[in-house]
Amino acid sequence: MVKFAPSSQKMENNSSTGSSTNLELAASWLHDCTNYHEHCHHQPQKKSTLPLRVLDVGDRETKQKLFLSVGEDRIGSYAALSYCWGKSERKRKYLTIKQNLEQRQATVDDSNFPKTFTDAIVVCRHLGIRFLWIDSLCIIQDDESDWKTQSERMGDIYANATLTISAAVGEDSDSGLFVDRDPRKTYPCTLSFQYPKEDGLVTQGAFLTCLDSYLPRTAYLDTRGWTFQEKYLSPRTLHFSKTEIYWTCASSNASEGLPMGLNPLNNKSDFDKYIMVDKNGALATQVDMVQRYYWWYQAMEIYSYRNFTFESDRLIALGWIGLEISMAWR
Ligand SMILES: [Zn+2]
Repeated sequence: MVKFAPSSQKMENNSSTGSSTNLELAASWLHDCTNYHEHCHHQPQKKSTLPLRVLDVGDRETKQKLFLSVGEDRIGSYAALSYCWGKSERKRKYLTIKQNLEQRQATVDDSNFPKTFTDAIVVCRHLGIRFLWIDSLCIIQDDESDWKTQSERMGDIYANATLTISAAVGEDSDSGLFVDRDPRKTYPCTLSFQYPKEDGLVTQGAFLTCLDSYLPRTAYLDTRGWTFQEKYLSPRTLHFSKTEIYWTCASSNASEGLPMGLNPLNNKSDFDKYIMVDKNGALATQVDMVQRYYWWYQAMEIYSYRNFTFESDRLIALGWIGLEISMAWR
């Protein structure tokens, strides 16, 4: 006998990737990762150093006014946003510049924020992450010295973030994280079946999911050069794609269709295994040099296909990955 049974997830009111059902699912992934994944570096009680400037988004209940929180060597949990800069991004009014910096430390007017930013704020509040780092808000865009200092810390910013939120959907910041989709395509079903044995009927279960939820995804973000290091340095990433949300960390690849997750077999996992160092400076896993170089050659092949607005950025954007590797292989 074969029968289909709905999972605990709800399909109703889940027509947007930013539905409360989905954000609850994301919260459960974050909870499991920070509490139970032995290969994921950040423990819940161990908070990271905040970047120099972060957007304080408050919490879900109060939804306080936004402001730029500024200070060196502060401890806290934050999310970092990974998204594509559009062609006209540098001319936009929401950028932090010398002229509005002081005002923004009191309050940030979000009325002209692009949709990706406002969606990311919703995600942070829902997950209980008070601080959000977005490059165009947290780096003074017309201050060359600040840009140089902060961009040199970019690798640490993504490596220390509690969560990276990836805008896998669009080609610029107006695309947003949340999109409407058909929830039936990602809705997971459990399949239970029975078969006879000597001592009676045996019941077994299986997990059925749409193929869309299983196939490797290629997002526009994955074609861009600067997002390469963001992908590999982030300890855990929540991705918003055109069809569903999904999760990647060193211990699990999960999606709406496969909410319990699978062991990762991708380059992110390899990167953590071969390259990343523990906070005490020791290699997370001791592996031989041949495997490490194999990962490096593979990574460089992927990287060489990525696109840059300015070709001169190609080697600069590789800097942090190179630094991590040189430290780990020392
Ligand atoms: Zn994890």
